[in-house]
Amino acid sequence: MKKSPKILVESKTKNELYELMEELYPICRSITGNGVRKTLNILKKKIPLKITEVTTGTKVFDWKIPLEWNIKDAYVKNLQGKRIIDFKKSNIHLLNYSVPINKKITQKELKLHLHTLPDKPNSIPYVTSYYKKNWGFSVAHNQLESFNDDYYDVKIDSSLKPGSLTYGEFLKKGKISDEILISTYVCHPSLCNDNLSGVVVSTMLANILSKIDTYFSYRFIFVPETIGTITWLSKNQKNLSKIEGGLVITCVGDNGNFTYKKTKYGNSTIDKIVNDIFKQSKRKTKTKDFFPYGSDERQFCSPGINLDVGVFMRTPYYEFKEYHTADDNLKFVSKTALKDSLSMLLKIISAIEITKDIKQHSKIKKINRKKSDIYLNLKPKCEPQLGKRNLYRNISKSRLVGKGNSQDLIEISILWILNYSDGNYSLNDISKISGLPIKLLKHSSQLLLKKSLLKKLN
Ligand code: ZN
Repeated sequence: MKKSPKILVESKTKNELYELMEELYPICRSITGNGVRKTLNILKKKIPLKITEVTTGTKVFDWKIPLEWNIKDAYVKNLQGKRIIDFKKSNIHLLNYSVPINKKITQKELKLHLHTLPDKPNSIPYVTSYYKKNWGFSVAHNQLESFNDDYYDVKIDSSLKPGSLTYGEFLKKGKISDEILISTYVCHPSLCNDNLSGVVVSTMLANILSKIDTYFSYRFIFVPETIGTITWLSKNQKNLSKIEGGLVITCVGDNGNFTYKKTKYGNSTIDKIVNDIFKQSKRKTKTKDFFPYGSDERQFCSPGINLDVGVFMRTPYYEFKEYHTADDNLKFVSKTALKDSLSMLLKIISAIEITKDIKQHSKIKKINRKKSDIYLNLKPKCEPQLGKRNLYRNISKSRLVGKGNSQDLIEISILWILNYSDGNYSLNDISKISGLPIKLLKHSSQLLLKKSLLKKLN
C-alpha cells in the first residue's frame, strides 16, 4: 500500500470537538422536532449544512414520515408537590415521543408507565416509543421503592402534530463527482458517546475536508437514525450509484479501542482500506463481520440499496455498560478520544484518496448452498416497517446481544432473513452466517410470509 498524505488535526480542534458536544448535550432531540433543528443550526456554524424538511405523511419506501414531536416540560410530582421525576434535570427521564398528559393517577398506574433496568439498578434507561402512542418515564430501578404515595401528578407538556422530519447534508465537492458517504445520526437526546460523539467528529471532519482539495466528493449526512436514513435514501435513489462507499460514524468518544464493522460481504475496498490503516497503526483494534441490526448500516446494506458502508466506532454500541442510559454523559467521553477518532478517520480518508479506484463492488461470498428454502424479500429497499405489522416491539429499550429473550431473537432472526433473502441465500445459509438455529429461522420466515414480506423461490 502506498503511503498516504498526512492531514493533521490542529491541537485546538480537541477543545472544539468537546465544546461542540457541550453545546449540543442539553438539547432534547428525537426523530423529528425542534431538537434536531436546533442541533443542525449549531452545526451550521462549522459547516454550510443544507437542511431539508420532509412533511409528515410523506411516503418513504415502506414507511411514512410520522407526526412531529416537540417537548417543553415533563414531571411527576408526589403528594407534597415535589418533582420526583424531572425532565428538566435529565431529558432521559422521559419516554421519547410521549404524548401529552396532565392528570392525577394512582401509584399502580404510574408504575405501569415507569421504565427501569433491573440489571443496571442505578442507571436511567433511554427509552423510545416513536410509532405507538404512549407516555412514560425512566428511572433508576433502585428508585422504584421510593414511589409509595397513593397518588401522583403527572404532566407531559409535549405536542404531536403534523409537521416534518428534518435532516442536514453537506457535500464537499472533489475532483470527481463520485462520492464517499459519511453518515451519522442526530436523534438521540442527551447521550454523548451514542451519538453526539459521531455528530461532532463528523462535523469537524467535514470542516477539515472543506478546506482542502480532494479527489473524491464527500457527502456528509446528519439524519435521525432509521427513519431519517430511510427518508434520505428514498429521496436520493437516483444518485446512489455515485456512492463508492462510506462509513457510519458512531460511538467514537469513549476510551475503548477502535472497532470496524465491515460492509455486508466483508470484502469491499472500504473494508480493505480500514483494515490496512488499522494494521499500520500497530494499535489494538477489532473488526466485526456485518450483522443486520445496529445502526444505519442496516439500511445502507439492505438488499435493495446495497451500498458498501461500514461502521467506524470505538467500543461498539450495545457493548459499553453506559450504552442507552443517562450514564452516557459528558464525563463518559474524553477530548483525547474524540481527537484520536478524528485523526484515525483522516488516515482512512487519506488512504481512500490515494486508492482512487474504490468502486469494485463487493462480491457475494460463496458458500455451500442447499437449494431449498430460498426466499425473496419483497420490500428490499431498507427495512420494512415491522412495528406496524406487529413484528417488532413498540417500546425500544437497549438490547443486550447474547442475552436476548425469545422476542428479541425473533426480531433478530427476522432482520437476518430480510437482509439476506435476495435470492442467493437459503435459510440454511442464513443459519450458517448468523449462527441462529434453523428452527428459529423457519418459524420467522413463516411470520414474514404471512405478512407478505417474503416470497418462496425454492
Ligand atoms: Zn442509540
